[in-house]
Amino acid sequence: MSTSLMKTLASRNSLQRLGNLCRNGSTSSTDPCGTYDLVVVGGGIVGCATAREMLSRHPSLKIAIVEKEKAVAMHQTGHNSGVVHAGIYYTPGSMKAKLCVEGLKLSYDYFCKNDIPHKKIGKLIVAKNEKEVKRIDELHQRGLKNNVPDLELVERDCIGNYQPNCQGQKAIWSPWTGIVDWGLVCNHFAEDFKKMGGEIHLNFEVTGFSELAESKGKGELVPISVQSKNKCILAKYVLTCGGLHSDRLAVMTGCDLNPRIVPFRGEYLLLSDSKKSICVTNIYPVPDARFPFLGVHFTPRMSGDIWLGPNAVLAFAREGYSWFDINVRDCIEMAKFPGLYKLCFKYIVPGLHEVLKSVFYPLAVKDLQKFMPEISVKDVKRGPAGVRAQALDKDGNLVDDFVFDGGEGSIGKRVLHCRNAPSPAATSSMAIAKHISDKLETDFKF
Ligand SMILES: Cc1cc2nc3c(=O)[nH]c(=O)nc-3n(C[C@H](O)[C@H](O)[C@H](O)COP(=O)(O)OP(=O)(O)OC[C@H]3O[C@@H](n4cnc5c(N)ncnc54)[C@H](O)[C@@H]3O)c2cc1C
Repeated sequence: MSTSLMKTLASRNSLQRLGNLCRNGSTSSTDPCGTYDLVVVGGGIVGCATAREMLSRHPSLKIAIVEKEKAVAMHQTGHNSGVVHAGIYYTPGSMKAKLCVEGLKLSYDYFCKNDIPHKKIGKLIVAKNEKEVKRIDELHQRGLKNNVPDLELVERDCIGNYQPNCQGQKAIWSPWTGIVDWGLVCNHFAEDFKKMGGEIHLNFEVTGFSELAESKGKGELVPISVQSKNKCILAKYVLTCGGLHSDRLAVMTGCDLNPRIVPFRGEYLLLSDSKKSICVTNIYPVPDARFPFLGVHFTPRMSGDIWLGPNAVLAFAREGYSWFDINVRDCIEMAKFPGLYKLCFKYIVPGLHEVLKSVFYPLAVKDLQKFMPEISVKDVKRGPAGVRAQALDKDGNLVDDFVFDGGEGSIGKRVLHCRNAPSPAATSSMAIAKHISDKLETDFKF
């Protein structure tokens, strides 16, 4: 018998014993709907990419993804700008910078191998005044330090060669920036995972984790029961990638409340059909260094549409895709969170500007006209929106790097929570998956 087959059988036998333990001595009133070596909570791009990576590294493991919605990629992964970022903005040496540049290459390889429609249409970051010209030079240096391929500085008179009718004082041209439908990519990851034997449980909202007390002391590994409303599944180890709910999942195993997730909606405007053809590349402003958001940009979509956005306004629900989506629990939690007050106090003026531009969108069009003067208010209408899971500490600081956590007691030792996978986590997803898989292999004994 081959070693891998023996390993598979050993793994399946030990999982069967876990399942029996649960059925024979479970405190839970529900029968488990499966027993796994690893359960990944969250079917966004981070969860799906990591589950896929783990199963391709360890084909003998039994792995499941549980997702609360009726399909994968229903939240941030399916509601974003669809840009494949090249990695210019991020602090050199940071995980964000490293994983983005690595993720970009892995993503393009994957798109080509799997015939996923994408376009390498490039991107201009355009300075509108002298102050921003200085930032352009700094950003260019940053990009070079981050090993972003083939960056160019573009002088004022040449900007039109990259994007006709675009105006600015100076720009960066990034030819490797592209566009793709990240929801589609996530669905491909999920399909790969299923083909390798992985299982996906949809409509499975995790409400808690517990250990099966009766199995303690019998020399068996105590199964973790991953609970939903009327069902549970059993796991040796758990990884959570819960996006907008990542802090709530972490608290379920005794982790600190902080950092908390505060939802920031990003709303887009849509360019009318008659003006679609004027935009041939991604056009970005010079970002405000105080915020992790990149600013309102022109983004051609794979569908042929042009999206203008996203802005950044506080949402009244974690999944609040419009001003009218209000969730009482989410609002009460935000109202009780001192970090949010401190943030609002610090950024009251730019925050109110964003709200004004959201309500009266002709004001947002004025900003866009600085780059493309031929756009007028009648050329745009309101478009879709996404909600960012912005991690915030109790002092009101925006958390801009990865945060991993476990929790307390013996469950905490077998659970890894990815509490913050900052944007551009879609572009970086394949590199993040490798990083998390290395961590799972180090922390847990599969
Ligand atoms: C407006 C906007 C624009 C962006 N633009 C870009 C871009 O152009 N390029 C780029 O690379 N990145 C972009 N990003 C960032 C990128 O979309 C996200 O970083 C990435 O999708 C995060 O993936 P995720 O898997 O962590 O989260 P999500 O996609 O939110 O997935 C988390 C999943 O966990 C599930 N879940 C949560 N709680 C539970 C529970 N209790 N039980 C079961 N399931 C649960 C949710 O239903 C969800 O499906 C953008 C984000 C936004 C919001």
